[in-house]
Amino acid sequence: MKETAQQLVTAGKGIMAADLPAKRFAEQLKQHNVTAAEDSYRTWCELLVTAPRLSDEVSGVILAEDAVHLCTDEGQPLPDLVQERGMIPGITPSGGLVPLAGAPSEVIGSGLDGLRERFAKYAKMGFGFSKWRAPVRIGADIPSDYAMAANAYVLAQFAALSQEAGIVPMVEPEVELLGSHTIERCFEVTEALLRHTFAALYLHRVELESTLVKASMVLAGADCPTPADVDAVAELTIKAFRRGIPAAIPGIAFLSGGQNDFKSAAHLNAMNANYATPWALTFSYARALHRQAFGLWRGQAENAAAAQAALKRRAKMNSLASVGEWSPALEKETAAG
Ligand code: 13P
Repeated sequence: MKETAQQLVTAGKGIMAADLPAKRFAEQLKQHNVTAAEDSYRTWCELLVTAPRLSDEVSGVILAEDAVHLCTDEGQPLPDLVQERGMIPGITPSGGLVPLAGAPSEVIGSGLDGLRERFAKYAKMGFGFSKWRAPVRIGADIPSDYAMAANAYVLAQFAALSQEAGIVPMVEPEVELLGSHTIERCFEVTEALLRHTFAALYLHRVELESTLVKASMVLAGADCPTPADVDAVAELTIKAFRRGIPAAIPGIAFLSGGQNDFKSAAHLNAMNANYATPWALTFSYARALHRQAFGLWRGQAENAAAAQAALKRRAKMNSLASVGEWSPALEKETAAG
């Protein structure tokens, strides 16, 4: 597992999250006025995985449980296709978010039941890593310590079960972008959430050297009247991580969380260009990798090549950001090219 964790955060590479459940995928297609056909979901997953030479920038691909049993026209299961393309297949085994008992304005992840058996099956299928998202939202009096501790407990139990099956867990304690909070408030919440998460991982005997973190950046809320600049995001994100994430963790891969493509790359780059850290810092984006590709594709086979080229461009930009070599000028050049 240690080796797999290291491979996933190899310098210059990041992870592609392609784990949108089939139902949410169909809703997203509908927003482009397209009704999903029976094989649209499989076609989309396959399009992402088979983008030419994606493994130059992408080390692993996270699939949803809905994609586990899908096969190509030639009968190859998608997880095998990911491997054949030189990337490590990952799985999101969590269920939906449900209201937290006693704190109905907050949520907790479901899906721990039967997870041991599912992990045993996923290990046989060749999945090398797994991911579980535990989001908290910032509001007037939330997140509560209760919600943070309860979510940390679930993340830790997920991670322990994943390691039991020999699968590297990626724990995702996310502070959501929604809200009008300041960046300072996001910093406070991020630090608290990370401390809760690592206290629980310790209690649940999770080996940190074989664990990855999927983290949110420290940002002002989407509706904050005073957005933070790139340097402040980098500074406060690194500060929260230094306080809350042990150096034994091999790597931290960010979610994009609703940031646009440019900012997702700019923030990651600023951290890598300006700070020395004990962990690799890279991307594990969904939207910031395939937003453009999805808009180009819209379910039409004739748009597949253009969509794959757009994905490849975002992967390249974020790969450069993961080693501090991205610049706004490069964005313009590649957009023109
Ligand atoms: P975004 O990059 O779109 O926030 O998605 C990250 C993620 O965790 C999806 O599984």
